[in-house]
Amino acid sequence: MALPGKQSSKSRKRGRISLLKQKKVSLSVCPKCKKPIRPHHACAFCGTYRSRPILEIKTKLKTPKKKREAEQEAKEQKKHEKEEGKKR
Ligand SMILES: [Zn+2]
Repeated sequence: MALPGKQSSKSRKRGRISLLKQKKVSLSVCPKCKKPIRPHHACAFCGTYRSRPILEIKTKLKTPKKKREAEQEAKEQKKHEKEEGKKR
């Protein structure tokens, strides 16, 4: 019920608002990959729960395949150039 502001005391108001505050998520450590995980949840990084494989993890590629290939080629070319530079 809506009450006029003065009728709900400061302490009541603040107490009510304090319940809306986000609580800290408690984390535990994955026994396999040592990453922080939520307790009683399967690890999202290695897909294990209580050291048993539960989930199949599909790794997302950060960049599309074509771009990655192009980047690798560029890297290899740079390497070759470096090696040639050292020989001279
Ligand atoms: Zn893990």
